[in-house]
Amino acid sequence: MKQTIVFQIEGMSCVSCAQNVEKVLNEYSEISDVRISILNKTVSFKLTEDVDLSLLQKKVENIGCSIHLSNSSHKISNLDFIKVLKRRMMLGWAISLPLSLKMMGERFFGWYIGSENIAFTIDFILAALVIFVIGFPVLRSTYYALVRRNYNMDSLIGIGTMGAFSTGLLRLFGIEVESFVVIGALIISIHFVGNYLKEIASGHASATIKQLLELGAKQARVINKQGLMQDVPIKDLLVGQIILVEPGEAIPIDGVVIEGISAVDETIFTGESILIGKKCGDTVIGATINQFGLLKIRVDKTVDDTFLARIVRMIEDAQDSKIPVQAFADKATVFFVPAILILALLTFVFWITSPVFAIDLLEFLSYYFPWVSLDKSIFGVAVFASIATLVIACPCALGLAAPTALMVGIGKGVKAGIFFRNGETIQIAQKIDTVVLDKTGTLTTGKPQVVDYITHLDRTDFMQLAASVESLSDHPIAKSIVSYVRKKKIVPNKVDDFKIITGQGIEANINGCQVHLGNIRFFIEQQIDFGGYIMQVDAFQEMGYTVILLACDFKCVGIIAVHDTLKNDSIEAVKSLKELGIKVVMLTGDNEKSAKIIGGQVHVETIFADLKPEDKLNIIKTYQAKGNVIAMVGDGISDSEALEQADIGIAIGSGIEITNKSASITLVGESLMGVLKSINLSKATFSKIQNNLFWAFFYNVIFIPFAILGLLHPIIAEIAMALSAVTVIANSLRLKKLEL
Ligand code: ADP
Ligand code: MG
Repeated sequence: MKQTIVFQIEGMSCVSCAQNVEKVLNEYSEISDVRISILNKTVSFKLTEDVDLSLLQKKVENIGCSIHLSNSSHKISNLDFIKVLKRRMMLGWAISLPLSLKMMGERFFGWYIGSENIAFTIDFILAALVIFVIGFPVLRSTYYALVRRNYNMDSLIGIGTMGAFSTGLLRLFGIEVESFVVIGALIISIHFVGNYLKEIASGHASATIKQLLELGAKQARVINKQGLMQDVPIKDLLVGQIILVEPGEAIPIDGVVIEGISAVDETIFTGESILIGKKCGDTVIGATINQFGLLKIRVDKTVDDTFLARIVRMIEDAQDSKIPVQAFADKATVFFVPAILILALLTFVFWITSPVFAIDLLEFLSYYFPWVSLDKSIFGVAVFASIATLVIACPCALGLAAPTALMVGIGKGVKAGIFFRNGETIQIAQKIDTVVLDKTGTLTTGKPQVVDYITHLDRTDFMQLAASVESLSDHPIAKSIVSYVRKKKIVPNKVDDFKIITGQGIEANINGCQVHLGNIRFFIEQQIDFGGYIMQVDAFQEMGYTVILLACDFKCVGIIAVHDTLKNDSIEAVKSLKELGIKVVMLTGDNEKSAKIIGGQVHVETIFADLKPEDKLNIIKTYQAKGNVIAMVGDGISDSEALEQADIGIAIGSGIEITNKSASITLVGESLMGVLKSINLSKATFSKIQNNLFWAFFYNVIFIPFAILGLLHPIIAEIAMALSAVTVIANSLRLKKLEL
């Protein structure tokens, strides 16, 4: 029996918790395919035999997470979890904020509620409430982390908090130390802000789109076979059905226009507020808005397979992933924790073993730092200094560093029509030094026009033949020939035994004649007789046209010249990429002459032409072997292997086929400026994360010497904690202002 079990997990908020859960589950031989989603707080796995689930549940609980069996494999909303977190965070602050203010009042102005002892008792009880009740999950996971020697960021928080709280205990037992209990409460409260923001972040970008999804149509007007209209819920729509969309309405689902002319607002995907003209044969995307005309649309996708659905899934996956630099920080804590424990211990030993020196030092310091009191015992100072070291070293803003920046960065991308596959994409994309551009559909519009054709056959027959073969292909050239012929009201013929040779052409059988259609290279490889057309091919190529040859039974019967124009900002995009210091390269399966003409227009000097898809792949590999970090930009037609091979594959186009697997970045919309924007956004986001990691440690680390010397006033600790959290959040939010 194989059965998939899905558990909902509580308290699994970081990669290392997830790894621990995975480890526990993998200990069972009966369990396979363990899959953890941090975003949805679920773990799923396959059971080959029955396992005592309650025992398993206990084991997972032992590592600090609680799990419930969830009855469906359906994604569980993390809204409940967010609510619980929010409640914890609010409660934490409701107590620690007044406590912090009270502490300031005491230290700066000597305002005590009742006596100093009463004031301390209030601190102690309330802080204990925050630390042990609200912060319970943190302490529990710290405990298990310490037992298993598997430290994570939570362990740092737990250790710092317990250190801070122990000063209160010492005071209770009459040892003269400065009390850090309020700091302990503060550490916990800041920690929950981090966790809360992390949850919000993971729901944020997809929520924006989901909201739009909500706004979109829920019903579609289907025209049935009898020509009658009928309202049908979107989820019940079938591929091939015909629907009617009125001006001003959202297009309910992905499809192809079969009647009508209009312009469509695709701003929700592209971020560019320009209207895109739609006529017969054009694809439309569900959730975009039809502006002017009545459109008849043939449904092309089911609701789970639409562009929107795939984009939402992609964003969700992106947020499940972790950015490697964060994993690095997680790993660093493995060393940081013992290092701090040792430092604290050394501090204690230093004070205890050198009392004479210590007293001299204190006397000297008390002159400059008035809060240092000389009437404490050396033991008291030793305890205080070592605990203070533990407390101040706790980087409570560490958990904020990556999530806040990613939240802003990914969100900004979504608004600009840039979709990152995962956090790692951002980390790699900021290192790109070479951008390889495909020609057709990337640099050019990918909507070529037929300009001329030459044949010795009847001209209508010839074009009918060409269109018959091309009607089988999705290639931009094929579409242009088909639509050219359709305008002339020529109906394509029936085609048999066809084969598409990607990046070269098509082979087929029409009325018993074997037809080849494609570029010169294809004809040479197939040893087809050019039949005197070679001169004209050359002439067309000189003019910058792409030439398609057509052969019947291995003899050329005519040629078609098509012309594709540059996208209007390709020149600017290439220029700005170069200004960033990035090498720009162009690849194409088209002939060298027209490649050179296009290359000359956009000022790309490095051009590779006449390529088959595997040649494109090899060129990428060659660059990688030289140590370059490559972005390949393409439309996925005849370049998907290259896209996959590149360090970053960037799929571009407002078409519907573009959420393909080979792309790590998807640019919706036509503009090549998106490439520049993605690189800029990655750079900015990544450097923010690095920056944040620095600030998370900065204030804490500079106060470590104070702590070691017994000079750490609780107010300093409080300020350090607050500053690092505020700096990190403010720093991430500044990313919002970035001009792409
Ligand atoms: P690019 O690299 O510029 O995007 P492709 O690799 O898609 O171009 O195609 C390379 C060449 O192969 C085209 O310029 C064209 O000559 C030929 N070709 C490929 N597919 C077709 C097709 N379906 N119909 C006609 N020509 C085709
Ligand atoms: Mg292409």
